[in-house]
Amino acid sequence: MTTEELYTSPSFQEYFKGSPQSLILRADPPKFTILAVSDAYLNLVHRVREDILGKGLLEAFPGNKDDQTEQVGVLNSLLEVMRQKRKTIQPLFKYEIRIGNTDQFDTYYWSSFHEPQMDDLGEVAFIINTTSNVTVQVAQEQALKETERRFQNMADSTDVLIGVGDETGAATYFNPAWTRLTGRSTEDLLKLGWVDLMHPDDRERVMSLLSTAINERKSWEWEFRMPDKIRGYRWLLARGIPRFLEDGSFAGYISSTVDIHEQKSLGLELLQLNEELKTSNNELAAANEDLRKIQKRLLDANSLLDESRQELVASYSKLKSSEDFLALVMESARIGTWRANPRTRSLELSVKSREIMRVADNIPTTLDQFFRWIDIRDQHHVQDRMNEASEKNRPFEAEFLLHPADGSTAIWLKATGIPAHTDREMVLAGAIIDITDQKANDQRKNDFISMVSHELKTPLTSIGGYIQVLQLPAIGQQTDAGLALLGKVKKQVDKMATLINGFLDVSRYNSAHLQLDKTRFDMALLMHESEEESLISITTHRIIFAPVERILVLADRDKIAQVITNLINNAVKYSAEGSEINVACVTREGKALISVKDEGIGIREEDLPKLFERYYRVRREENKNVSGFGIGLYVCCEIIKQHGGDIWAQSTLGKGSVFYFTIPVIE
Ligand code: ADP
Repeated sequence: MTTEELYTSPSFQEYFKGSPQSLILRADPPKFTILAVSDAYLNLVHRVREDILGKGLLEAFPGNKDDQTEQVGVLNSLLEVMRQKRKTIQPLFKYEIRIGNTDQFDTYYWSSFHEPQMDDLGEVAFIINTTSNVTVQVAQEQALKETERRFQNMADSTDVLIGVGDETGAATYFNPAWTRLTGRSTEDLLKLGWVDLMHPDDRERVMSLLSTAINERKSWEWEFRMPDKIRGYRWLLARGIPRFLEDGSFAGYISSTVDIHEQKSLGLELLQLNEELKTSNNELAAANEDLRKIQKRLLDANSLLDESRQELVASYSKLKSSEDFLALVMESARIGTWRANPRTRSLELSVKSREIMRVADNIPTTLDQFFRWIDIRDQHHVQDRMNEASEKNRPFEAEFLLHPADGSTAIWLKATGIPAHTDREMVLAGAIIDITDQKANDQRKNDFISMVSHELKTPLTSIGGYIQVLQLPAIGQQTDAGLALLGKVKKQVDKMATLINGFLDVSRYNSAHLQLDKTRFDMALLMHESEEESLISITTHRIIFAPVERILVLADRDKIAQVITNLINNAVKYSAEGSEINVACVTREGKALISVKDEGIGIREEDLPKLFERYYRVRREENKNVSGFGIGLYVCCEIIKQHGGDIWAQSTLGKGSVFYFTIPVIE
C-alpha cells in the first residue's frame, strides 16, 4: 500500500478525525490537494469534510479575491517546507474565511506549522499541517495596544504629572504635563531631571526622602514647590509607589504629582482639583478594567497601569476625605459655597447654597439668573461689589434681599468671596449664609429705637416751644440772668433734639432700603446754599468754600445736603475753635467729588475703615467731651452707597482729616 493509499483509506480517515493535527496535503504544488482533515480543524474553519476533501487547499479556501497577499503567503510557506525539507512555522497570518455561501468574509488570524513527509527519493511527498486560530490573542493584543494608547492619551492630556523612574531613582518617563509645568522638553527632562528646578528650600528634604524610600523600596509622598512659567512657584503634592518585576525585583517608581497650590492657599480650589482627579481617575479605572481582561503574559505593562491607577485612587481618596470634612463643617455651619465666572457668567452653587436659596437641583444657574432673584433695590450694589472684586482683585462681600425662585418668602443673604485664579481664568469663589434672622433682630431693635425716639421727640418739642414763649419779653419779664439760663436750656434741648433725630435716621436707613427722591440739580447751587447756611450757623470756625463749576447730578437733593452738613459739623466738632475748614466740589472721572478738610485732631489709620460702621466712635481722650453716638457717618455712608457713590476719609493724627464722597454726574 502506498502512503497515499494509506492516507485515503477509510480506517486512516477515521483515525485522523480525532487528530490534533489539521490537514494532510499532497505536495503537488500549486494545488496542494487535501487528503485528510481533522474534526478540530473543520470546527475552526466552519466547514464540512465532504466539502474540502480532494480539493486543492486554495480551491477549498479561496480567501478574499480582492487581496491575494494572504493566499500568496500560505503558498510560499508550503513551498518553503518543500525547499527546506524540514518543519517550518508560519507564526501569524491573516486569512479571511467566507461566511457560509455569502460574499462576506470574516477576518481570522492563524498560526500554523508544516511537517514534511518524504518519499523514497528524499523529496517531500506530503505535508502535515497543524493550524490554530489565534484571532482571540490578536484581538487581545490589539485591545492592549488600544488600552496603552488610551493610557498614553490620558497621560498626554492630564494635568497630573506622571513620571516613571528606574531602581536608581533616574527618570525614564515624563508625561507632557511635566513639560508644560517646567518648560523643559521631555529629552531635557530625561537628561537634566527636575531637581535643580525645585525651590531651594525643598531640595534637601525631598532628596533625602527619596533616597530613604529607594533604600527601603517603600512608597513615598511629599509636598514641594516648582516654578511655573507664568505664576511662579506652585505647591505640588507628589506620590510614588514602587514597581516590582515579575520575579519580585525592584524596578523603580511610578509617580503622580498634582498641583495643590490653590488647595493649600485657599482650600476652596479643592473642589475643582478633585473634579480633575476624578476624571483622570475614571479614565484610568476604565483603562484598567480593559487590561484585566487581557491575558497574563501582558502582566508587566498591566501592573504598571494598575499601580498608577491605585496611586491616583489613593491621592483622590485623601482629597475626597478632606473634602468630606470641609463639607461637614460647611453643613454644620450652614454655609453654602458658590463659584462664579464673571466673564462666562457661569455660576455653580453647592447643595447647601441651593438649599439656602431654595433653588431646585435640576435648575441650571447663571449669574444673570441669580441677579434676577435679587431684590431690584440691591442688584446694583451687589453687581458693583462683584465688579470691584474681579477688577481690583479684592475680597467680595454683599448683603442682599433675595426672592427665591420657588416663590417662597424673601430672605436676606450675605455672600462673601475672593477672586481665585485657575490655570485658565479668574473666578470668584466663596460662601453664602442666610442672615434673615439677624436682619429681623436688627429690625426689631430699630423699631424699638424708632418708637422710643418718637416718644421722646414729642415732649421735647413742647419743651422747646415753652422755652421760646418764656423768652418772649412780653410774657416772661425775665431778668438778664434768667434769660441767659433760658438760652442755655434751649441750647441743651436743641442738642437733645439733634441726637434723637439722629436715632430716627438710623432706624430709617438701617431698614436697608431707604427711598431716594431723585431730581436733577446743579451741585454748584447746593454748595452755595450749604455755604450760606454754615456762615449763619457756625461762628466758631473759618469755613472756606472753593468756587464750584456747574456740575449736574441726578440725586436726592435733601439727603446730599444732609451729608455735606454732617461732614462740616463733624469737622467743627473735632477741631479747635478758630481753625480753618475747607469745602470743595470738583468733577473727577465722571463723578462729582466733594471734600471737607479740617485741621483737627485727626484719626488713627486703624480707625479709618471703621468710621462708617453703625454706632462706631473713636475712643480717645480728645473725644471724651464731644457728644455723639457714632451714627452720623453711618447715615452718610448709607445715603452715598444708595446713590452708587463712594465715601472715605484720609487723615493724619494731630494734623487733621479730609472726608471725601463721590456721586455720579449726568453727562
Ligand atoms: P459721632 O460724631 O456722632 O460720634 P459720626 O458717625 O459722625 O458719629 O463719627 C464717628 C466717629 O468718627 C466720631 O466718633 C469721631 O471719632 C470720628 N470722626 C468723625 N469725623 C471726624 C473728624 N472730622 N475728625 C476727627 N474724627 C472724626
